[in-house]
Amino acid sequence: MIAQHFVSLSGLFAAALFIFGLKRMASPVTALSGIMTAGAGMIVAVIASFLVLFELDGTVRSHLTTNLGLAIAALLAGGGWAWWRGARVEMTAMPQMVALYNGMGGGAAAAIAAVELSGGRASGTLLLAVTIIGALIGSISLTGSFIAWAKLDSRIKKPWRFSGQRLVNGLIFLATLLVGLGVILLYGSPADTVLAVLFFVGALAFGVLMTLPIGGADMPVVISLYNAFTGLAVGLEGFALQNPALMIAGMVVGSAGTLLTLLMAKAMNRSLANVLFSNFGDTTASGGAEVHGQMKSADAADAAVNMRYASSVIIIPGYGLAVAQAQQKLYEFVKILLAAGVEVKFAIHPVAGRMPGHMNVLLAEAGVPYDIIFDMDDINADFPNTDVALVIGANDVVNPAARTDKSSPIYGMPILDADKAHQVYVVKRGQGKGYSGVENLLFFEDNCSMVYGDAQAVLSQMVQSVKDLAAAA
Ligand code: NDP
Repeated sequence: MIAQHFVSLSGLFAAALFIFGLKRMASPVTALSGIMTAGAGMIVAVIASFLVLFELDGTVRSHLTTNLGLAIAALLAGGGWAWWRGARVEMTAMPQMVALYNGMGGGAAAAIAAVELSGGRASGTLLLAVTIIGALIGSISLTGSFIAWAKLDSRIKKPWRFSGQRLVNGLIFLATLLVGLGVILLYGSPADTVLAVLFFVGALAFGVLMTLPIGGADMPVVISLYNAFTGLAVGLEGFALQNPALMIAGMVVGSAGTLLTLLMAKAMNRSLANVLFSNFGDTTASGGAEVHGQMKSADAADAAVNMRYASSVIIIPGYGLAVAQAQQKLYEFVKILLAAGVEVKFAIHPVAGRMPGHMNVLLAEAGVPYDIIFDMDDINADFPNTDVALVIGANDVVNPAARTDKSSPIYGMPILDADKAHQVYVVKRGQGKGYSGVENLLFFEDNCSMVYGDAQAVLSQMVQSVKDLAAAA
């Protein structure tokens, strides 16, 4: 009886913790405690799932008495592995890990559906339909996220396309839908193994085929979309299992993921349909913008001294800053500039780095105050009146080809207007391209100089140069 009340209340309690945690994650100051709070919500949800009572063969049972050993083994194996990997993962490999775990959430929802279908427990049209839709979305999210992981991890370097691909994808999706909804729901038996296998193979294959052709530049939208899919699938399977905690957790993740998808699509200036169904973001199809001018290189010391005597500097961090783990050094340099009376601001592009909020996390880790960090829309107007734009390990997010070159995979994406500053310094190791794989027109502009080197090493030199300058004065 106590367990029953606990289960009924657990959904509400877990939901409150999830929503409160999510709210706290909105600001880097409170994000850590937000994650802890949501994690506590998840523990409540897991305990409640153990206590859920269900009916089997006419008798009421609890998971405590049926699958306890298996469930504990699964919890220990999954939780232990995730804990071990999470503690060791490199900061730069974090986006891949997030994509992978996200996919596993979808896979777990699909697995629940498979068990429900094979055990014949999902009976009744509504429950069957919900289970099947959840299985479809979860399976797509599982394999789609694996492909996203492979793309982020550079295991798949180019979009894979062939003529008639959209038609093939459409047919596979329709066939899967037909098997899932039409045949199983209306004519077949839910426990029909052949149909169930056909359905799952179709759904899993569609996840792969749908993600393979999507170009590098559009990956932020895809990753957010699978996040939403996983939430939705978990929510639907929660409904099928009549588990309130699972239902609410899934819906919270699903709606947060949907919002993130819309924000990311807006940041790329793309509609979702355009990302999914046009062959945009093709790194191989780019005609390549005509490049005018020549790249010039500058010394780290000269660049640092120029910034020390500038009145305003805007810093644009990108993926390379995360690779170099140079955020602390960068902030050390910024503190020296601020102390010398230079106005310093950070400009954050929504898709900079390899996961949503990547740059905010890096800067928060270094302790950069939030009042000098600005979003793209709030800072772009400042560039024409700024002495120096310092681009560190960023590339695609400052590429003017996005404005002018219709053949470019990033055409139409709003960029940070670094090229409009009086002087631009770009810190990068060499001639490496950005994630989208295209040439950056900014690097050839008259007002741009390249400071070659690893961001950590270049920033150390910059810090030393301005310190030497102060000592000599
Ligand atoms: P980019 O990937 O465009 O460019 C990063 C640059 O950093 C490279 O040109 C590289 O040049 C340089 N770099 C790498 N390592 C170092 C280092 N140690 N020191 C100095 N420089 C280094 O990064 P952006 O942040 O500008 O753009 C993000 C891209 O990633 C966009 O295309 C976006 O669509 C995509 N993306 C974003 C996701 C998100 O959610 N934010 C998810 C998936 C993809 P070099 O090799 O010469 O040093």
